[in-house]
Amino acid sequence: MQTCSRCQTQSPDTVTLCPTCGADLREFSMTMVALRKMQANPRVSMIRLAVAADACPACRKMHGTYPKDQVPLLPTAGCSNGLGCRCFYEPVLTEIYP
Ligand SMILES: [Zn+2]
Ligand SMILES: [Zn+2]
Repeated sequence: MQTCSRCQTQSPDTVTLCPTCGADLREFSMTMVALRKMQANPRVSMIRLAVAADACPACRKMHGTYPKDQVPLLPTAGCSNGLGCRCFYEPVLTEIYP
């Protein structure tokens, strides 16, 4: 399941254009907007791809920490979860010492 960042409409992972506002979900899903914010934030050093506890094998394989410019895109290609891919990104922050 993916959520449009413009109108909050939820659509299945296979949908690429939001049925409500026509936004390109490969660019404007909540997940992708969050990813771009992390990539633009200089305090974020790496990006962790987190998976749900009951994620499918395809998603489990994606679990890990990646350089900002090498993060695999979500939803996971080939995700076999009935409800759709529920993976998400988490920022890994650069430690700032006082
Ligand atoms: Zn929308
Ligand atoms: Zn999956």
